[in-house]
Amino acid sequence: MPSATSVRARNESAWLLPNDGTRTNHRLRQDMRRFDDTDEIDLVIVGCGAGGSVLAQRLARQGWRVAALDAGPFWDPDADWVSDEAGSHHLYWTEPRVIAGDDPVPMGSNNSGRGVGGSMVHYAGYTPRFHPSDFSTYTDDGVGADWPLGYEDLKPYYQAIEQELPVAGEHWPWGDPHGYPQRPHPVGGNGEIFLRGADKLGITAKVGPVAIVNGRFGNRPHCIYRGFCLQGCKVNAKASPLITHIPDALSHGAEIRANAMVTEVVIDQRTGRALGVKYRRDGREHFQRARMVAVAGYSIETPRLLLNSASRRFPDGLCNEFDLVGRYLMVQGAPQTAGRFDAEVRMYKAPPPEVSSEAFYETDPARDYKRGFAIQTVSPLPITWAEHVAAQGHWGRTLREYMSDYVHWSTLGSLCEFLAQPENRVTLADEKDAHGLPVAQFAYSQCDNDRAQMKQARTVMEDILHAAGADEVITINRYAHLVGGARMAAGPRQGVVDRNCRSFAVPNLYITDGSVLPTQGSANPALTIMAVAARAADHLTGRV
Ligand SMILES: Cc1cc2nc3c(=O)[nH]c(=O)nc-3n(C[C@H](O)[C@H](O)[C@H](O)COP(=O)(O)OP(=O)(O)OC[C@H]3O[C@@H](n4cnc5c(N)ncnc54)[C@H](O)[C@@H]3O)c2cc1C
Ligand code: SF4
Repeated sequence: MPSATSVRARNESAWLLPNDGTRTNHRLRQDMRRFDDTDEIDLVIVGCGAGGSVLAQRLARQGWRVAALDAGPFWDPDADWVSDEAGSHHLYWTEPRVIAGDDPVPMGSNNSGRGVGGSMVHYAGYTPRFHPSDFSTYTDDGVGADWPLGYEDLKPYYQAIEQELPVAGEHWPWGDPHGYPQRPHPVGGNGEIFLRGADKLGITAKVGPVAIVNGRFGNRPHCIYRGFCLQGCKVNAKASPLITHIPDALSHGAEIRANAMVTEVVIDQRTGRALGVKYRRDGREHFQRARMVAVAGYSIETPRLLLNSASRRFPDGLCNEFDLVGRYLMVQGAPQTAGRFDAEVRMYKAPPPEVSSEAFYETDPARDYKRGFAIQTVSPLPITWAEHVAAQGHWGRTLREYMSDYVHWSTLGSLCEFLAQPENRVTLADEKDAHGLPVAQFAYSQCDNDRAQMKQARTVMEDILHAAGADEVITINRYAHLVGGARMAAGPRQGVVDRNCRSFAVPNLYITDGSVLPTQGSANPALTIMAVAARAADHLTGRV
């Protein structure tokens, strides 16, 4: 494994944070380079989340003149975040979105974030790799799609990002077996129960992989195990691009332009090339000129922006000549099972991401469905616990009884690989947002494979908790993690971008977020999104 010194040589972010007990390097932000709208910069990026931030950091390091615009604020963990569930809703993208289909997916807190750092500000922190099989599900199983690149193409980028976050965990026996830069964290009550139940059933479960520092890393302190990872981690122990990539981007001359909502990618109608982006800031419309544009606004907002960027040359939306923008959007089925134990579990006394199993990840020929699911600890805090109980139909006095019994419950979640389907898609709704732009409509329906897989995941989780000694188990169905909507493919009739994230339709337009994923596996997606963006940066600088 490389030393922290060698990571520092290529990404100094953790050393650029203050070490005086505060969380933000205000001097770095004050001294940030600022471009004029009229400057033709090298690259303007829409969205400073998982994909956008990595791209900004990589290209700023190569001397590119980069500005990354984000619709939300430039967070300061000290001033803006609280270790409190109810007080953390401002971290989510709660602008209106319309949902539709047979199995509509609730939006808001379960999906995307806003502000610099993107959804990783409030993500749990699991950072597994995809398996090699995820890149060829169509060839192997006749479902999903084949990627235009393979696992081996992404492997060096997985390794690099795992070192930069850094990731802690046991040696990983699944997919392409590998180790992690940091040792596994100790586990709390929920993790112990998962390990115990799995062991009784002969199911392998491992501690990790989590992007939470185990020991000091640069000026980032050790995790203090308070369990507020989904509320933004005021400690700076959990990785998000706000602390893992943005400081280094700033110190290499990138501009982060917060509170800047991009409304259109502007195209030269004669040449078909992107000229820059229109955006709203401080109540005014601006236009940032750029030699290249990269869109990284998340799987809902990226297709929406492309569709809202229709013009004479692209009347059905940008990059949408073959009606592929917004299609093949995926969500993971995420059923959640809770088990009650006589002994206190106190699942809040640890990071929610602790232990996982990928023993059911791959297609099992003995089953009546293709592909599979992962199982992980989830450890909801009290409000999310109340939502779990209420989703079972418990109200009033029974709900209060379950709530006051909270410390006795353990909770596991599955991530089921729901399949990509063309009709699961983003389109534009009639409803408009505060800027007068049509909002996204997201239609979602499950297929038989999805339902069979989720049923089996529920059974396995209930078996694990019973084997660990639970006297009661309750399971609800949920969704997690949207990806797809502007997928990469071998050609323009199958997808929106090529293997390097370059759009087929506009030669100087890239898409570098979760939208480009053709399949999702049953892994949490952030690490893969960052790896894909890091590879796109290498392509832009001529390294691949
Ligand atoms: C509760 C929860 C838990 C999660 N846990 C995990 C986990 O444990 N592990 C994991 O791998 N993943 C997890 N995820 C998912 C993960 O965080 C996302 O998949 C990932 O961050 C998506 O990356 P992205 O680059 O596509 O978009 P994002 O990271 O969401 O970044 C998009 C950015 O674009 C900005 N933006 C959007 N539209 C515009 C516009 N028009 N103009 C300007 N800016 C714009 C947004 O403000 C946002 O900052 C979780 C998500 C949630 C909601
Ligand atoms: S448990 Fe650790 S990673 Fe999670 S919020 Fe607390 S300090 Fe941060």
